[in-house]
Amino acid sequence: MSSYSENDAEALRRKRILSSKLYFDVSPSKVPLIYSESYDISFLGIEKLHPFDSSKWGRICRFLVSFGILDKESIVEPLEASKDDLLVVHTELYLNSLKGSSKVAMIVEVPPVALIPNCLVQQKVLFPFKKQVGGTVLAAKLAKERGWAINVGGGFHHCSAEKGGGFCVYADISLCIHFAFVQLNISRVMIIDLDAHQGNGHEMDFAYDSRVYILDMYNPGIYPLDYEARNYINQKVEVKSGTLTEEYLQKLDEALEVAGRRFNPELVIYNAGTDILQGDPLGRLEISPEGIALRDEKVFRFAREKNIPIVMLTSGGYMKSSARVIADSIINLSNKCLIETGGAPKSA
Ligand SMILES: [Zn+2]
Repeated sequence: MSSYSENDAEALRRKRILSSKLYFDVSPSKVPLIYSESYDISFLGIEKLHPFDSSKWGRICRFLVSFGILDKESIVEPLEASKDDLLVVHTELYLNSLKGSSKVAMIVEVPPVALIPNCLVQQKVLFPFKKQVGGTVLAAKLAKERGWAINVGGGFHHCSAEKGGGFCVYADISLCIHFAFVQLNISRVMIIDLDAHQGNGHEMDFAYDSRVYILDMYNPGIYPLDYEARNYINQKVEVKSGTLTEEYLQKLDEALEVAGRRFNPELVIYNAGTDILQGDPLGRLEISPEGIALRDEKVFRFAREKNIPIVMLTSGGYMKSSARVIADSIINLSNKCLIETGGAPKSA
């Protein structure tokens, strides 16, 4: 009886994925870098109440365009994830709970959002996130076709099917992977989660799924302190508060070496949070901007040398300096020929 209903649920999930509009054909003239102006959250000054720079996504793209790394016209604009798309992972109960502004306020950690009419919250807060989810899902298709893709947003790794938290409303990583299973005929995915925080959302969602291998390198002394989800990490690398660049990169080298021996993925999802940056009040690690560029370079080299498609998500890290650090790292990937963006850096 229970396996019959599980089959039903799986069939419904497949049907939803196959009838989704999130995968669409992208012209070869475009670069697999995904962004929409509607990613950025700003209204009524609410963004200033949040400790985060909630317009970092737009600033990353403006840096890349102004440095001549890519043309504005070559950026890929994703579609918004519909309710049916979100139901591929989320429960109806969870999505309905977002119809209460107080629930959204709690997840995005901006208490005044609780006082705003829900129709405005839907439009000004949830819509940008749904666009970013659409970007993460599409990124896997582009990565399969081009070898790599970067969603200049997404990486909401604290959200699982039934629970949001820590600024993460939708489980974009889980959605992306389920779409890839069905649409790209992929059955082995490696998540490399290098955001400073533990990725408890995808860990809960793929707890008993051997198709997904999770390498998570995180600070064990900060949010979310999810000890249950830690049981589901295949390869756990803990980096304590105050860890410096050299030690961090050495641990990463060792971790990638082990991961490459243990699992042979057909797709890498790289959650590239920049809250490991020195001075980040949330991540509490001490990695230099150059160290972050080196980190991203190592992960791209790991995937690209083995011809494994790689999706990068920008995830956490919302200091004013984060956007520039991410842009500089993408420029470095381009200079090292690990990505092809069509543009050439302008000489100073
Ligand atoms: Zn984080």
